[in-house]
Amino acid sequence: LHVTHDLAAGLRLPLERAQANYLLNVLRRGPDDPVLLFNGRQGEWRATLAATGRKSADLVVAERTRPQTPLPDLHYLFAPLKSARLDYLAQKAVEMGAGQIRPVITRYTQGERVNVERLRANAVEAAEQCGILAVPEVAEPERLPVALDAIEPERLLVFCDEDAPVSDPVAALRAAAGNGEAPPLGVLVGPEGGFAPEERETIAARPNTVALSLGPRILRADTAAVVVLALVQAVLGDGR
Ligand code: SAM
Repeated sequence: LHVTHDLAAGLRLPLERAQANYLLNVLRRGPDDPVLLFNGRQGEWRATLAATGRKSADLVVAERTRPQTPLPDLHYLFAPLKSARLDYLAQKAVEMGAGQIRPVITRYTQGERVNVERLRANAVEAAEQCGILAVPEVAEPERLPVALDAIEPERLLVFCDEDAPVSDPVAALRAAAGNGEAPPLGVLVGPEGGFAPEERETIAARPNTVALSLGPRILRADTAAVVVLALVQAVLGDGR
């Protein structure tokens, strides 16, 4: 369970109503049942539930069970989609090990104004669900050239390009990453309408970028995101 408070042994934490209801009535946790907490800064802590009402409860923090882990060093850049699928994208990015989630506004981006707070809430929920202790950061939307400039030169950017020649993606990733230690990584997935020609030129002009085909079929942007994140993690992720 994600909390915002600083955590320490012996602390008594009143739970927010929705969280208390979730623990008591959805997970049906009872008094003295263990609850694992994290705040994204101090690792994981065990607490016990002290119900104080049918829909209210406190947590009594006991001890730390896992040390804090750093954010994964994988940046996920994507052109926003309609909000329901945006929730999905944010959650899959967290599950697939993204440490930074960076919305990129492109010419054909369809999504209305990006609700960053909603994306951040999705990142917290996904972190709770997949058991990670660092909550991936969601950046404010940036236009494509600004987003590309914000990436460190040494970060290998894997650009999902449905027009790239269909080749062996594993070999292409390995060749781009070079031998030895994998470089810091970023992935870039376009909008439903794809990238505009001038955007493709901007992307291609960035050194340390590999245009990667994900096969001969045109994937939906949210499908492409999961595919490329899984590939990058499997080939270059060394267990990240
Ligand atoms: N240009 C496509 C078209 O005309 O239908 C639309 C783009 S596709 C729906 C959305 C994004 O997913 C693309 O910008 C690209 O980043 C990624 N993508 C989809 N299929 C892909 C493939 N086979 N290989 C690499 N990337 C792909």
